[in-house]
Amino acid sequence: MTQTIQSVRGMHDILPDEASLWERFEETVRSWARSYGYRNIRTPLLEPTALFRRAIGEATDIVEKEMYSFVDELNGEHLTLRPEATAGIVRAAIEHSLLHAGPQRLWYIGPMFRHERPAKGRYRQFHQVDVEALGLAGPDVDAELILMSARLWDDLGLDGLRLHLNSLGSLEERLAHRDALVAHLRRHEGDLDEDSRRRLVTNPLRVLDSKNPAMAPIIAAAPKLLDYLGQASLAHFDGVQAVLKDAAVPYTIDHHLVRGLDYYNLTVFEWITDRLGAQGTVCGGGRYDGLFAQIGGKPAPGAGFAMGVERLIALMQDSTVLDAGEPRDVYLVHQGEAAARFAFTVAERLRDHGFAVLQHSGGGSFKSQMKRADASGAQIAVIVGDDEALAREASVKPLREERGQMRVSLEQLAALVTDLLYADESE
Ligand code: ATP
Ligand code: MG
Repeated sequence: MTQTIQSVRGMHDILPDEASLWERFEETVRSWARSYGYRNIRTPLLEPTALFRRAIGEATDIVEKEMYSFVDELNGEHLTLRPEATAGIVRAAIEHSLLHAGPQRLWYIGPMFRHERPAKGRYRQFHQVDVEALGLAGPDVDAELILMSARLWDDLGLDGLRLHLNSLGSLEERLAHRDALVAHLRRHEGDLDEDSRRRLVTNPLRVLDSKNPAMAPIIAAAPKLLDYLGQASLAHFDGVQAVLKDAAVPYTIDHHLVRGLDYYNLTVFEWITDRLGAQGTVCGGGRYDGLFAQIGGKPAPGAGFAMGVERLIALMQDSTVLDAGEPRDVYLVHQGEAAARFAFTVAERLRDHGFAVLQHSGGGSFKSQMKRADASGAQIAVIVGDDEALAREASVKPLREERGQMRVSLEQLAALVTDLLYADESE
């Protein structure tokens, strides 16, 4: 017997019942991004491995253990399936000198790949919406990005998302804090878990990010990054907070919010929900003024955020009223050989007028076809038999109201369907 083949572990099919929610999500995102003046950009799934090593940093979860990296056997290139979008977008901005034309507000949606242990809300192929503001240095842009994300939750009908905010300051400030942090952690070295002991050497700031409850007391007593920020960094942070206050967007300052990637500085933020268990972060971002130079470009400021689409879709499933399938205007029923051919003419004519038409396929009795029409959710059945085909006419039967069948010519059909579909609105 031939073995069946299944999808790769942690990589999922999105079936039509769920995909309709994805489409609604994507449409919302598209018009939301446009309303803030962000333009779409699309970059490749594969990038040179060196890009992510440089951009994300060696001592991060992603580069240490989550990348799908391989050597292309055909030409020896070292490639990686992108684990996030920012590095590729900044690479593209440098490669095409996008900032010559001035600052760029960009957005992206697409699949990302990380080889992690699959769980609810954690997959090996997942999707992100990514928003990046390139070439703009002020705290006003950080605030714009945060207000923008807050509006999206509204547009999607989501509530209960909490905003966590922190500032990572500048590299020099982080280094000063690092010395104090390492000294603190060394005093508790015996109580550190294995991960934290490793990070103490490779990336001490990331110890603050530990989800292990046993680490909580040590982390709570650790020196706070904010206490090491200088005038300029504090002024930037105040600038962000002032806008958030004006806009009445509530937030919590979270001293342990350091984000998983190396490229961040100054403002960092996350949106968190309690409704998704352990995988409660739906969106994270911040400023990354060093990234352009780090991957070989002319220095330029940048800020952005990424959200996890699967986690947002899960919240939408949780909190919105789902409509029953796709809206369809017309189900086209036909019987007989001539009718089967004429049905195409009728369907295309209706689509010319903008109606969504589901054309019956696979034969069956008139009665069984009418049952399908009813189950499809369509408002109207258009019916053709061989004698209608001969006369170039069609019969029309409203499915959601008590009303008889009407027979009209092909020329009059669209007008009649319009009348029936929009009768309520003109009353
Ligand atoms: P986590 O702490 O959950 O691992 P992260 O810090 O690695 O998150 P980011 O790199 O900030 O995540 O990615 C931004 C968002 O993308 C996350 O907040 C989350 O919503 C989503 N995301 C990240 N990794 C995954 C994954 N493996 N599966 C599904 N969504 C993910
Ligand atoms: Mg992660």
